[in-house]
Amino acid sequence: MRITIKIGSNVLTRADGSLDVTRLSALVDQIAVLRQQGIEVLLVSSGAVACGRSVLHSMKNLKTKDNVDERQLFSAVGQAKLIDRYYELFRDHRIHVGQVLTMKQNFSTPISYSTQQNCMEVMLENGVIPIINENDTVCVTELMFTDNDELSGLVARMMNCDHLIILSNINGIFTGNPDDPNSELITHVKPGDDLSRFIQNKKSNAGRGGMESKYSIAQEVNNAGITVIIANGKRNNVLTDLLIEHKTIPCTIFENHQ
Ligand code: GLU
Repeated sequence: MRITIKIGSNVLTRADGSLDVTRLSALVDQIAVLRQQGIEVLLVSSGAVACGRSVLHSMKNLKTKDNVDERQLFSAVGQAKLIDRYYELFRDHRIHVGQVLTMKQNFSTPISYSTQQNCMEVMLENGVIPIINENDTVCVTELMFTDNDELSGLVARMMNCDHLIILSNINGIFTGNPDDPNSELITHVKPGDDLSRFIQNKKSNAGRGGMESKYSIAQEVNNAGITVIIANGKRNNVLTDLLIEHKTIPCTIFENHQ
């Protein structure tokens, strides 16, 4: 079994914007368990920009002229910190990881597509977990992916994964505003189900994506024969409960129907 796990910025950051190392560590522990069970994992991790923002937060009067400057600065600093944390945490499990920074145009020509595919394939063959993110330092404006949900969908398809697991800070897709007690979680999505009337376009604080993009990516990836699960990355044992214990936990599953 081969899976892509996407971890959103909101899963990895605390309310004050700092990196939630406890959560990161718990997710790494679970991924180590998945690996022991023979599951190959590709990790798409956001959090670089949020991480860099919190590192540089204490610096008064940052010399940046616009949002692009800021994103470049924060991601350069934050990606280094993020990958360092992953490296150390996985090392405790004797698991090697490698950083893959990519950009939209790497998926646009057959040569760059297969070069990238080969890189991730050779990493997996050697037991190295690819930790993938957009190269936010150079990907600006129209060169950017919509968000890392889009990137994770492309990776899951390129690498012929069985599952794509999108970890966010809510349980999945609801029939209304997730904060409204009358809203219900949609647990299973069957082929042909149209949930667009339920999708709120409200976005989260730390990340770039929202439920709208998660839903459209989930549908697209699911149509390619991959099971997609949107679940709460802040829930303890979310990955092992889903993939090892096969427990019923609150989440939205787009079943593989091929
Ligand atoms: N690549 C961005 C980061 O690591 C996140 C993009 C997104 O939120 O989807 O900070």
